[in-house]
Amino acid sequence: MSLHFTHDTLAQRVMLGAGRAAEHLRAEVERLGARRVMVISSARGLVQAREVAAEIDVHTWHTDIAMHVPVEVAERARAVAATNDIDLLVAVGGGSAIGLAKAVSLRSAVPSIAVPTTYAGSEATNVWGLTEGGRKTTGTDDRVLPVTVIYDSRLTLTLPVALSVASGLNGLAHCVDSLWAPRADPLNAALAGEGARALAAGLPRIVQDPSDITGRDLALYGAYLAAVSFASAGAGLHHKLCHILGGTFGLPHAQTHAIILPHVLAFNAPHAPAAERRLAAALEADSAVAGLERLYELLDAPRSLDAPRSLAELGFPAAGIPTVVEQALAALPARNPREVTAANLSALLRRALEPPRPVERSP
Ligand code: NAD
Repeated sequence: MSLHFTHDTLAQRVMLGAGRAAEHLRAEVERLGARRVMVISSARGLVQAREVAAEIDVHTWHTDIAMHVPVEVAERARAVAATNDIDLLVAVGGGSAIGLAKAVSLRSAVPSIAVPTTYAGSEATNVWGLTEGGRKTTGTDDRVLPVTVIYDSRLTLTLPVALSVASGLNGLAHCVDSLWAPRADPLNAALAGEGARALAAGLPRIVQDPSDITGRDLALYGAYLAAVSFASAGAGLHHKLCHILGGTFGLPHAQTHAIILPHVLAFNAPHAPAAERRLAAALEADSAVAGLERLYELLDAPRSLDAPRSLAELGFPAAGIPTVVEQALAALPARNPREVTAANLSALLRRALEPPRPVERSP
């Protein structure tokens, strides 16, 4: 391992405590001296958002959100914040709510607090995303990084088990991709390894008992570490592919990550021995691929949870493969353990299109 690197650590307060979100939010609003708070959540998540905000004065409630943050949705939220002279945004929800707060911060510099209710990890990155005309654009800007993240595993108890698993695998994908992303370094590799260990320990507990707070705590802790390592390492092949599948084909975020992860791991792992060893250790297996396969079996996603395990099940057409390949080749990360070509990328996507089958090492 080379100990020559440049590493960015993002400045952010993180608070984790089951059942303590309302108390932590009050303390943070006071610390920041905010007077006009806008809470962003989905309409469905409003009851939960009201519980989280029970101890603060909320000036504006905003529930006009959509996945992958369409520009018009972002513009409406920014206008509402400006009209109401908002000085702090509080996003309660998954990556869609947090992503909308980020989009408002990007245009207005109003800071945000994130109260995540999934394991997507957007709260710990300075990455924003916006979708326009069927194409998703992302960028990095420190203004979008929430000043504080408040984790409360009780808020995730309502997340259905299948979605908890898919979202947790989205977190695991952050760990995996961080190990070979353009700015991979020993610090984010250490975080990614611990994140993978925590997620691999937490998710099976959630499947066994969705109300298991320790499992939920482990998953949030792992999701945070995963996102920190991802924020520092950058997006690797896996994220480039999922980003196109989500942005251009409208596939659901967490499920797409869960489906693509074993295929990218099988594609890259034989060419990335250090990443392979780190993941194998985190997953307590002889190899990373075997460890991931065992984890998927343990989660039993395709059968008992009825979670999709192929792109076809998400409605992705085989005819879409050339588009994904073309867009992916144009956006490939600066380095990848294995050379990526139109032929081997098409083959990877064809495998991901197939109905579930055991993970195999790609040739
Ligand atoms: P999401 O926020 O859209 O949530 C998925 C579904 O789960 C929604 O229907 C939501 O209402 C529901 N939900 C959320 N929390 C719940 C709870 N506790 N109980 C019951 N239902 C709940 O999806 P996501 O996977 O969290 O985030 C995906 C979005 O985040 C994508 O747009 C993705 O691009 C973005 N993202 C961005 C980054 C980044 O660094 N910028 C990182 C990860 C994800």
